[in-house]
Amino acid sequence: MSDQDYYQTLGVSRDASDDEIKKAYRKLAMKYHPDRNPDNKEAEEKFKTIQKAYEILSDREKRSRYDQFGQAGVDGNAGGFGGFSGAAGFDFGDIFSQMFGGGGGTRQQNFQGKDLRYDIEITLEEAAAGSKKRITIPSHEECDICHGSGAKPGTSATTCSTCHGSGVVHVRQAIFQLQQTCPTCGGSGREIKEPCVKCHGAGRVKSRKTLDVNIPAGIENEQPIRLAGEGEPGSHGAPAGDLYVVVHIRRHEIFERNGLDLHCELPVSFTIAALGGEVEVPTLNGRVKLNIPKETQTGRRMRVKGKGMKSLRSSSMGDLYCHIVVETPVNLTDRQRELLEEFEKISTGLDRAQTPRQKSFMDKLRDLKNDLFD
Ligand SMILES: [Zn+2]
Ligand SMILES: [Zn+2]
Repeated sequence: MSDQDYYQTLGVSRDASDDEIKKAYRKLAMKYHPDRNPDNKEAEEKFKTIQKAYEILSDREKRSRYDQFGQAGVDGNAGGFGGFSGAAGFDFGDIFSQMFGGGGGTRQQNFQGKDLRYDIEITLEEAAAGSKKRITIPSHEECDICHGSGAKPGTSATTCSTCHGSGVVHVRQAIFQLQQTCPTCGGSGREIKEPCVKCHGAGRVKSRKTLDVNIPAGIENEQPIRLAGEGEPGSHGAPAGDLYVVVHIRRHEIFERNGLDLHCELPVSFTIAALGGEVEVPTLNGRVKLNIPKETQTGRRMRVKGKGMKSLRSSSMGDLYCHIVVETPVNLTDRQRELLEEFEKISTGLDRAQTPRQKSFMDKLRDLKNDLFD
């Protein structure tokens, strides 16, 4: 056995691609599989050499060492079949389930259904208050022709002749006896001789299902909600996968979210800003009143306590921060202009203490000029 040429064993050329090697291996392994050749020592030996050849040639590193140094290059760590079942890159179950897997081309080595993802978009209001969304997703339902049996009506599934209904087979590898999923029935323990024409033996057909998704108050953008067991159904009694509903929060016209807090810009008339007064502030659940202190400048940040987002994990609430922008009035009426002109007249020449920002600006400008002309 140590003299075998691995390429010859698999019947491929020395420059065969990974894919060609895999294909050749599958074909031979299927032919010489112990389950298909019970009590045939010769087939068993052949099966082992095929596995060995595949183990070497399917592993880039081992193959290259084998190409360079021959058997000696791979003897060191290959050492018979001891290292076989855990050998790098070799997945016995994978190969066989693909090879013998049940009808319809479905992969069956992993009976647990796949996790699925579904994306939905919600508003910030919905994220704040929590909401319930109804979604419709692709699904499977029991085939109404065979009622899930997968067998053509009038016939029925029989006990699998390979595993006698147990769903597993025992494969010998050197001194090990490994239990594996039955390649004939894919683990179901049943064999369908005449598959149902509608579902082709799967027992299920494609459909759609409607689910209600509870979106908790305070959910974060792109946070997934897991619906256990609502993913792809499993087969042979294995559990279904999960469904992950990924929630996207639409950009809000007014509010920007930062963790639990919300921020917004709040335009305030220049008279209110100067004299002080009450304004209405929008929140995610209605308007609230906010007192603007006199002499409020643009850029002042005012907090509205408890009007942010609810925490997802506790009952605490974030705050709303209003960033004040003092607005210059436009489209003045004659009367307004008259009053403003009068205001300007009586303001001219008054103490710059009334306009602290201008004062500071003029002071800086004066210092600058002095520097220039020194
Ligand atoms: Zn059917
Ligand atoms: Zn079986």
